[in-house]
Amino acid sequence: MPVSYCAGCRRTFSSVSAFDLHRVGLFTHNQRHCLTLQEMSAKGMARNDKGQWTLPPMETNDVAPWPSPKKEQQELHVVK
Ligand SMILES: [Zn+2]
Repeated sequence: MPVSYCAGCRRTFSSVSAFDLHRVGLFTHNQRHCLTLQEMSAKGMARNDKGQWTLPPMETNDVAPWPSPKKEQQELHVVK
């Protein structure tokens, strides 16, 4: 897993996605900033055993562990 370090808040992140999640605001107007500890916790982010911030469990998998309703409908249609 790649580790991302933020020079702004001096936290490390287990992935670029986790890093991206803690940076909010618009690039224009110079409003880009780090979330506070409370805001990160509110998003479901947590620290792993290495002290790196990780994504909420729901966002670590790109593919949902369950079939989406839409896909089930498509498969039913094919069976007909
Ligand atoms: Zn930061």
